[in-house]
Amino acid sequence: MAIISILKYGEPLLLEKSLPIEKIDDEIRRFIDDMVETMYAADGIGLAAPQVRELKQIIVVDISAGEHPEELIVLINPEIKAEEGSVVSEEGCLSFPDITLEIERPRYVRVRGLSPEGKELELEAEGLLACALTHEIDHLNGILIIDRASPLKRDLIVRKIRKKIKAGEW
Ligand SMILES: [Zn+2]
Repeated sequence: MAIISILKYGEPLLLEKSLPIEKIDDEIRRFIDDMVETMYAADGIGLAAPQVRELKQIIVVDISAGEHPEELIVLINPEIKAEEGSVVSEEGCLSFPDITLEIERPRYVRVRGLSPEGKELELEAEGLLACALTHEIDHLNGILIIDRASPLKRDLIVRKIRKKIKAGEW
């Protein structure tokens, strides 16, 4: 397994749409292992393939951040089948280090996808897990947390990041 460097905001690849996986083979499974290792090494609770330079529809989520390995969720070609309600919560993203934003997301989601073995999975989630799943699925569509924030907040964050880039801190 290997830890992959995570792309930060500013990389054009993060704004692109990922493609569905047509064949799940050992190479894909190895890549998924690397994604999981990378997520844990970064203390994240979720990671999407485009964040590690692959425009593939794969997400990994573990809201226990590795404390309870059985909570790890790997979804290939995930799709949101239903959503209900809305909640606003403070969110971060591994592509936006040290930045958090208040974001509105559905309170409940039903998500379908494939496991690394190619088995159909359907899961229901609420609260933090619903938030993490929709956040990662957003990445597969090139949507980032600043795209979900108010225009004012978005400008503020973009300016902050530009300053950091100039100072060589991003
Ligand atoms: Zn993210």
